[in-house]
Amino acid sequence: MYKFDLRVLGGNKMRHRSLAILLSILCVALATKTCIAATQHPETAAALQLLRNDEIRAARMYRAYARQAHTEKHLNIESFFAALGWSAMIRAEATAAVLNQMNATVVSSGEPDVRVSNTKFNLRLMTNVEGPKMDRRYPLLIEQIKGEGHAVAIKTVTHAWKVDQGHRRLAESILSSMESFFGIAARIPNEFHVCRSCGAVQAGVPELTCPICAGPFSDYGLAHAKWRFYRAINENSRLNAEEKAFAKRVYDHIHATSDPSENVTLARDAVYGEVYEKWGLGAPWDFCLEEKLYIAQLADMAHVWDTYKSINTHALDDADKAYLQEMRDKYGVRPINLRRERARERGKVAPEVQKVLEMVEIVSGRTEFQDEELILLRSLIAPVGFAG
Ligand SMILES: [Zn+2]
Repeated sequence: MYKFDLRVLGGNKMRHRSLAILLSILCVALATKTCIAATQHPETAAALQLLRNDEIRAARMYRAYARQAHTEKHLNIESFFAALGWSAMIRAEATAAVLNQMNATVVSSGEPDVRVSNTKFNLRLMTNVEGPKMDRRYPLLIEQIKGEGHAVAIKTVTHAWKVDQGHRRLAESILSSMESFFGIAARIPNEFHVCRSCGAVQAGVPELTCPICAGPFSDYGLAHAKWRFYRAINENSRLNAEEKAFAKRVYDHIHATSDPSENVTLARDAVYGEVYEKWGLGAPWDFCLEEKLYIAQLADMAHVWDTYKSINTHALDDADKAYLQEMRDKYGVRPINLRRERARERGKVAPEVQKVLEMVEIVSGRTEFQDEELILLRSLIAPVGFAG
């Protein structure tokens, strides 16, 4: 692909720089086999295409780093890498938007290769290898595009460089905390916010305008490992607010309980059809394990939701009425506190039934069961042979 090491070109001599610029244009053109002559800013388009491919590669890499941090139980560092992944996607999308404005074709770079080590090593790679590489790359890109004078493109590249440097400063401080005795030099923040305009990442809660694009702090979003899913659900116009909240509860549960060593292969038709159209995550991307698990159980999830929403407690059949009465006799007339009852009956309830109880909690979003939840519970536990 377009990957090549600028270090071998070295120096500040214009001759070398021109060679690097020429190479970068050639490499993009070769890698993408595309014609960017349609735009009046061919050099700018080539540079932006290169930048966009970098961002897509970075987004994928940071997601893999986040997952690694999760398996090492560095949950604050997981949030950090999740924020960087989000930032890279924001910048990839912003770059694509500028390319579109310029009438240049946006070309996908294919599946980049991502290598992951332990978290400390990943941070070191970022600060010692990737960082210096980018500090050589950005001035070349700016040099390449400034002659064509496309102001938005120049701003996009300049912002991307500043954002990148900000990432590295955060990575350095996290690394120094990890490497200090007992990690007491400085506490690693557990919240990271991302500027939705330029991708700047800030530790803690932002109180001022964005230092890079000057956007208001209301533009910042809280980054966590689930941001991609949350964003896809928030943007899904087929779901109402209640359904979105349900989908997020399902995903939260999957995220909290998934086994990272699990391998899920989605059926070819998993991202097609009515159920995916309604509850899915939009155009398919390289789904992570938890997203695949979510998609794999969409049909069941949609079925349970429809069952729950169709319960009419004013039109119950005799069996349902008898069941409710039985529950009331046992637990009283007030809503049943699920957590308390579950703790009390621990060991006596079969694991399958525990699972069903969890499911009712996820569907309803309630930990206090009322008639609707009890009826749903009954409809779900009948197949696993639990007699009230
Ligand atoms: Zn910003």
